[in-house]
Amino acid sequence: MRIAVFDTHPYDEQALNAANLDGAHTLEFFEERLHDKTVELAHGFDAVCPFVNCRLTEPVLQRLQQIGVKIVLLRAAGFNGIDIAAAERLGICVARVPAYSPDAVAEHCFALLLTLVRKTHRAYNRVREQNFSLDGLEGFNLHGKTFGALGAGRIGQCAMRIAKGFGCSVLAYDPYENQQIAKEVGFEYVTLERLLEESDVISLHLPLSGQTHHIIDAAALARTRRGVIIINTSRGGLIDSQALIDALKTGQVGGVGLDVYEMEEGVFFHDLSDRPLQDDTLARLMIFPNVLITSHQGFLTREALHAIATTTLGNAASFERG
Ligand code: NAD
Repeated sequence: MRIAVFDTHPYDEQALNAANLDGAHTLEFFEERLHDKTVELAHGFDAVCPFVNCRLTEPVLQRLQQIGVKIVLLRAAGFNGIDIAAAERLGICVARVPAYSPDAVAEHCFALLLTLVRKTHRAYNRVREQNFSLDGLEGFNLHGKTFGALGAGRIGQCAMRIAKGFGCSVLAYDPYENQQIAKEVGFEYVTLERLLEESDVISLHLPLSGQTHHIIDAAALARTRRGVIIINTSRGGLIDSQALIDALKTGQVGGVGLDVYEMEEGVFFHDLSDRPLQDDTLARLMIFPNVLITSHQGFLTREALHAIATTTLGNAASFERG
């Protein structure tokens, strides 16, 4: 299969070439993201292989179909950037990588959480300037605190296992309960309201959809414990950023770790590198010393990249076999 791989970094090339050692597929790599301005690059390919922040709207999918593309091999789990109904209408198959390494994202969630509660980001910056002062670096133990997972799927379960390891009590809200897993991991399913009211840490592990958009809004934040820590490694649109900024100002929220942000979805059509964000929300969030932002890198481990590459090419092979 001839596959046009979009939004690539050297590590994608390395992982995909390693997974294609037998040369079963012809791979061409493009740094560009796949959207309306770059769709013509897909000429002459059977498949496109975009990454998480692609924007495959109906017109883009229509164009892909016209130029002979038969399948979208998404190198990610979240498919909120693809108009699935349009793809179905147009007869374009969409495959994704539902679970490449839940541990990678769950561990990143704890990287953010531990940094925030022990303020190591602030200490790191100080020590680099030969400042060993402890002022303002008082943190708190995770042991004995309540960790609330919004979403108890693959990543949520991994995060809850880690939280149990730290000695946290663990609550989860998920409309699709699996009591067997709850027993095995040792968490309790509760209502969204109870999770908001009882958690010291709220971590988001659910997909972005019409139902979950702004699930954390001003009303939800008003119900939380004062000083709650919020971690989002899922999708930016799950949190109302303005409400979050307001709650940080009043101290209702005591710390925020974000690997994803609303504006990512707003810049779908552009590369972050060559176009500054029009929205200043990120800058307004970064003013707070208790806000820690990373660059949607939860997935970025050696193990996850290997799994993404092998599953993606496995999806291509399954498609070829019909
Ligand atoms: P998953 O499908 O295994 O689990 C999602 C869970 O959310 C399911 O159990 C589902 O029942 C639950 N859910 C659905 N609607 C809900 C609602 N309204 N309230 C509460 N729970 C709800 O997905 P996953 O593999 O655990 O991934 C979770 C999210 O992590 C994905 O949606 C993706 O956006 C994100 N993700 C981020 C990165 C990253 O690099 N930061 C990498 C991979 C995935």
